[in-house]
Amino acid sequence: MKKTTPTAPEAPRDCPLCPRLVAYREAVRAKEPTWFNGAVPSFGNDSAELLIVGLAPGVTGANRTGRPFTGDWAGDLLYATLDKFGFSKGTFAADPNDGLVLTGAMITNAVRCVPPENKPVGAEINQCRPFLEARIASLPKLKAILCLGKISHDSTLRALGLKVAQYPFGHGTKYEVSANGKPVILLSSYHCSRYNTNTGRLTAEMFEAVFAEARRAAG
Ligand code: URA
Repeated sequence: MKKTTPTAPEAPRDCPLCPRLVAYREAVRAKEPTWFNGAVPSFGNDSAELLIVGLAPGVTGANRTGRPFTGDWAGDLLYATLDKFGFSKGTFAADPNDGLVLTGAMITNAVRCVPPENKPVGAEINQCRPFLEARIASLPKLKAILCLGKISHDSTLRALGLKVAQYPFGHGTKYEVSANGKPVILLSSYHCSRYNTNTGRLTAEMFEAVFAEARRAAG
């Protein structure tokens, strides 16, 4: 795969960079032509102090609706927690037209297109990283980044030019790093997936404890 450096923080909806993801997206589009079926753009605005980095769109969630974490289980917990910690206004209704507004936060994904079985491969994560780098660079007020899961954590470290081995992933890890030449707190949580919450690996209380840190760091 050819590596290109995008100048924009968002991939075009019909991003051609990852052949396997394009093929999957097209196969889903053939079955579900009314779904979004494209690279899902970040949600929020450029004045965000907190950037939340997910893994990748879920096939029936963000890939269907076109908004990160919207329309699947992972989003129900994420948006409820954002509301609880004052990072949103309005009522989340699992629909991009619900009028929900993020306040001081932005949500993006390490990989912008839906991967088969929710599993992007290393080349796809690397190919998509320049969009994450550009997204981080586009946030002048950034104070904290909250990574959901190890893939997001590792890709964010690499986007910041840091070594993964020096900043191991764990639920609740907190590192002082630098982004855009300024100090930033890097927080991580287990991903709020249905699997993690159903198995008890991640409880709402554990997730909220990380968000309490994010609230403190974001101000
Ligand atoms: N939806 C997203 O947009 N990202 C995830 O990581 C999971 C679901």
